[in-house]
Amino acid sequence: MRPVTFIAMGLVVIGTALIAIPGRGSDPSAAAKAGREWEIHDRNRPLPLTITPGEASTQERAGRPPSDAVVLFEGKDLSAWQGAQGGPAKWKVENDYFEVAAKTGNIKTRQAFGDCQLHVEWAAPSPPHGEDQDRGNSGVYLMGLYEVQVLDSYESKTYADGQAAAIYGQYPPRVNACRPPGQWQTYDIVFHGPRFDKDGKLLQPAFVTVLHNGVLVQDHVALMGPTEHKQRPPYRAHPAKLPLTLQDHNHPVRFRNIWVRELAEPEP
Ligand code: MG
Repeated sequence: MRPVTFIAMGLVVIGTALIAIPGRGSDPSAAAKAGREWEIHDRNRPLPLTITPGEASTQERAGRPPSDAVVLFEGKDLSAWQGAQGGPAKWKVENDYFEVAAKTGNIKTRQAFGDCQLHVEWAAPSPPHGEDQDRGNSGVYLMGLYEVQVLDSYESKTYADGQAAAIYGQYPPRVNACRPPGQWQTYDIVFHGPRFDKDGKLLQPAFVTVLHNGVLVQDHVALMGPTEHKQRPPYRAHPAKLPLTLQDHNHPVRFRNIWVRELAEPEP
């Protein structure tokens, strides 16, 4: 059964849990409510307005890792990564980037992360192949469970909650800020993992903010649960930190310059 969310006066009911949402500038409840008005992958859901992100003056790496970042790839090797089932990551490392090696499976970080700021750069295959979901598909899975979709959504349509920078199956991006295939694109993600009590009951959902090529596309949205194809499963309790995962969807999507900053709980 899908968890039911009802919002009023800063209180959220998810399943049977009554949750106080900490005071924040945005209203994640409104987004959650809006998201539930649509069936998953509903092709009648309006597509976000397409915009042109600020011109990349060069295709140089967009942001060098700050000094307190954990660098997950800086151009040389996949030593920070492993296969989804363990063992070495089998994706292809080239000069300054790596590329999905189709059918070798997802890869995940060796280190586990919880609340974090994540920077990822990616490029869809050029020339493009296929359409819809079969075009430059990959994904960034926060905690290995919550997917920020990677897709070539440049002049290519799919369902709104499955295009680039969607929270897959839940939230379309606020705008389509995709660059053309072959060009490097950035995701800057702020993630707060879900909180569970000692009995595994959800206390607070996960929240995600995403900037795509510098443009705000997800504004502190409250995730409904793990992201899946054609389903919205409820939350299940999990550790406070889990590896980040990148998706092998059989397309040679490229990645580079990946770094993460762990976010400590602010002092009360
Ligand atoms: Mg994907």
